[in-house]
Amino acid sequence: MNETVTIVGAGLAGSLMAIFLARRGYSVTLLEKRPDMRLESLPAGRSINLALANRGLKPLRAVGLEDRVREQLVTMRGRMVHDEQGRTQLQPYGQHPWEVIYSISRPGLNALLLDEAQAAGVELRFCKACSRVDLDDGVLAFADEDDGQTIELPLRRCIAADGAGSVLREALMKRTDFDHSVEWLEHSYKELCIPARGDGGYRIDPNALHIWPRGGYMLIALPNLDGSFTVTLFLPNGGDPGFDSLDTSGRVRGFFHDQFPDAAALIPDLEDAFFDNPTGPLGTVRSAPWHLGDKLCLLGDAAHAVVPFHGQGMNAAFEDCLEMDACLGATGGDWARTFELFFERRKPNADAIADMAIENYTEMRASVVDPRFLLRKQLAFELERRQPDRLVPRYSMVMFRDDIGYADAQSRGRTQLGIMERALEGKERLEEIDIDAVEREVLETLPPI
Ligand SMILES: Cc1cc2nc3c(=O)[nH]c(=O)nc-3n(C[C@H](O)[C@H](O)[C@H](O)COP(=O)(O)OP(=O)(O)OC[C@H]3O[C@@H](n4cnc5c(N)ncnc54)[C@H](O)[C@@H]3O)c2cc1C
Repeated sequence: MNETVTIVGAGLAGSLMAIFLARRGYSVTLLEKRPDMRLESLPAGRSINLALANRGLKPLRAVGLEDRVREQLVTMRGRMVHDEQGRTQLQPYGQHPWEVIYSISRPGLNALLLDEAQAAGVELRFCKACSRVDLDDGVLAFADEDDGQTIELPLRRCIAADGAGSVLREALMKRTDFDHSVEWLEHSYKELCIPARGDGGYRIDPNALHIWPRGGYMLIALPNLDGSFTVTLFLPNGGDPGFDSLDTSGRVRGFFHDQFPDAAALIPDLEDAFFDNPTGPLGTVRSAPWHLGDKLCLLGDAAHAVVPFHGQGMNAAFEDCLEMDACLGATGGDWARTFELFFERRKPNADAIADMAIENYTEMRASVVDPRFLLRKQLAFELERRQPDRLVPRYSMVMFRDDIGYADAQSRGRTQLGIMERALEGKERLEEIDIDAVEREVLETLPPI
């Protein structure tokens, strides 16, 4: 086959999509505005690790990369909750040994995907920033940052994987029949680092996602293979505490020592890193439709960026690649129909994970220490033990089940929540609940998964 496909953006989604298409025999060109990240050192403060879940592993397995990706993973079995006194409590994510998530290095994974794309015959072109999109004349223009020239390519069979700030989405959404919104959270994030010990070991338990929940804000830490942890502070922009009021070294030190004393003791360059590293905004992108004939289709964050509290943005972007590949198979390579089908199948799922990701911020920063939340979790686990084919906690459906779409997880989750909330009314301990009656309600209300 000699059909060409252009992909804009060689991040996680663009690189994986390129591999899928090259495997189908397409001639793929992947253009990226940044230099080749495999040759660069990492800029400070960039999100350098991510939580990978089963639904993100499935597409990697489909292109034969699972074993090589597994070499880069650190397993996280649950949330390690740190209170103000420095006491910790591990809350397992699930109740089966396989119910875990993984921490992976973003640059390590991206580099692996680029290597694999190159080996599959994809043409990689770095320092090419898409600067203009002419939908009517069907032209894509790229500023060549090597020689200052402009390159033009025909706008046909183009996949826009240029991330949350997509210029291709902007172009598409100027048309009257397209719609999009970017909903900014009034909270931002800042990355810091807990270094490895002198002997290369971890300073805190590596097999957990650490959370310091403080109601209106939180600190989290994910392990890296080299013994370090990437730490992220999520905090309101305004107010006190807020990023705006943490404006001197003394205030930053005071805030960390009051709120996260055990973490502060492990971050040696705390104040310098706080002011050197950027503060990143957090937003949800919703758009519709994502495609224009056989010319263009949005993929990954370009179509549906979500806030990071369910750790699902990359996982959703990888699922997109698998679904786009399945749509190509289903349509026999009819690109206009492929893009249409892809949008129909993925849009409800993208909307569902966007909502659930926002809800999960409250869960992480506050509910994990709320006795009612913990009791509901106990009840959900008990019901799952009794009826594993009918009741699976929503968190488990999202994080561990690659056979349940986000939209189904969200709607089943609503029904389950109703059943459990009724059962919990006025109760403080599991023993007070008539679990047989709740189980009967589960059997009557929830069909088998
Ligand atoms: C703080 C934080 C933590 C996160 N944690 C997790 C997590 O734990 N788990 C998870 O699943 N997800 C997480 N995410 C989300 C995840 O990072 C994204 O969903 C994922 O990177 C999306 O991949 P993408 O390829 O669509 O976009 P990106 O990774 O943003 O890639 C877009 C690429 O396009 C390039 N580009 C941009 N504009 C142009 C242009 N004009 N021309 C050419 N190239 C261009 C960029 O340089 C980039 O390489 C997190 C996000 C944040 C902000």
